[in-house]
Amino acid sequence: MAEISVPSNSLFVGGRWYRPEAAADFEVRNPATEEVIGIVPEAPAEFASEAIAAAQAGFELWSATSVETRAKTLERLAEAMEVHRSQLGRLTSAEIGTPLKDALGGQVDLPVRVLRSYAEIARRYPWDERDEAGSSVVREGAGVVVAITPWNFPVHQIIAKLAPALAAGCSVVLKPAELTPLNALFLAALCESIGLPDGVFNVVTGQGSVVGEALVQSDGYEIVSFTGSLKVGRHVGEVAGSKIARAALELGGKSPAIVFVDADLTVAVQTTVRNCFVNAGQKCNAPTRLLVPRNRLDEAVAIAKEVAESYVVGDPNDPSTTMGPLVSAAQREVVTGFLSRAQSDGARIVTGGRAAQQDRGYFLTPAIVTDVSRSSEIAREEVFGPVLVVMAHDGEDDAIALANDSEYGLSAEVWSGDPGRAAHLARRIKAGQVRVNGVRTPALPVSPFGGYKRSGNGRELGEFGLDEFVEIKAVLGDPTVSEA
Ligand code: NAP
Ligand code: MG
Repeated sequence: MAEISVPSNSLFVGGRWYRPEAAADFEVRNPATEEVIGIVPEAPAEFASEAIAAAQAGFELWSATSVETRAKTLERLAEAMEVHRSQLGRLTSAEIGTPLKDALGGQVDLPVRVLRSYAEIARRYPWDERDEAGSSVVREGAGVVVAITPWNFPVHQIIAKLAPALAAGCSVVLKPAELTPLNALFLAALCESIGLPDGVFNVVTGQGSVVGEALVQSDGYEIVSFTGSLKVGRHVGEVAGSKIARAALELGGKSPAIVFVDADLTVAVQTTVRNCFVNAGQKCNAPTRLLVPRNRLDEAVAIAKEVAESYVVGDPNDPSTTMGPLVSAAQREVVTGFLSRAQSDGARIVTGGRAAQQDRGYFLTPAIVTDVSRSSEIAREEVFGPVLVVMAHDGEDDAIALANDSEYGLSAEVWSGDPGRAAHLARRIKAGQVRVNGVRTPALPVSPFGGYKRSGNGRELGEFGLDEFVEIKAVLGDPTVSEA
């Protein structure tokens, strides 16, 4: 299969590849080798209005298409991603440093399933239904969407917005993270290859604080769908609110994994450590607080240490590697900063947290931390790196209180040998997703994902994810309604 070629030093707006006037050049680096793997334009703030205008033209075209056309388009994009699976997987692995097999699974296969799920959801969605008053309730795409995404699971995060937006009939201006724009441009090339009309999907590369900010400050969009940090998300929500535009915010987490006394401790701890260290811990829903019965703490720490020390940190292309580098030197400094402050606070770093041996690349050995107080920074703040905190709880009520004692509420895990108890406890946790006994994301990715509390507003995936992009119109006295 021929490789897709993406024009160099160009963004994609209004169906054209070009370098905006006054753009600077931005070098994209491979975090494992520190080599430059691409150059993209760093669009100036003034460029935002051009991108929004292109998307408005795209919306006129796309919102007039049939649901079946849109569903088929999602399926064609899924097929194109499958055809170019290896190229997209390698590109994404090179951009974020995640092991190639993880990039293929999480950044190609999963988004393909998300696209297909939205083709099916679109076909059965209640676009036009009657209410009990005899009115029609019409759902339609809300308009131009500004999508802003982070670097950690870049393709998945883009498709989780693009698929439902396209299904609804919206057009999209995407500003991907500046560290990982190449996969976004690759998706644009795939959209072009399947004949998506001009202006329906636009990719603006550049800095969040410059062109990202300018997009959010623009008039002419109806929805901003943001995934990223609490700090930036709060600001994006404020600006969108002042425009009465809708903001869907997928923010951070400090997710607990609670192991109850009747659980299999070994399996629970081993699984939690592996889950926490996916993508070198750069995962918003990583279970970063392991809460175990007090009398099992030492045992749990020993098991966690053993798993952490079994990681092979190194070249993402080597099949034996289980952890690649962090995404950037700056991110590694953020993580080591958390660890050294934790130590000053009296915490004990049982293993890891060292810049690994390679002379190139932003590698860090995975860390297990214990002896932390409940009020300490490392117990409360999101680290976004390979760091697991192991803490003791004093039984069911204490464990639930500790789990819920967080400004975040994105995800949680419960481990119990008693299914009825696990189900009951899951309902007491304030989080958008609770996983019981280590269950993985199902093959069909339609269960809603999103945050309670400061982890965000809105949901992604499944029908709830489509609702975010839809406006609702009531038609009273609709002549097409035969029987009232
Ligand atoms: P970030 O700094 O908030 O950046 C996220 C995105 O926002 C990037 O595209 C960034 O562009 C852009 N941005 C920055 N400032 C902006 C502004 N003033 N206006 C508009 N856009 C702006 O987050 P990050 O460090 O890249 O990602 C890590 C965070 O994302 C973590 O907190 C993590 O928990 C969260 N996350 C959440 C989920 C979820 O689904 N809940 C999933 C993954 C990650 P630049 O890259 O150019 O700065
Ligand atoms: Mg940033």
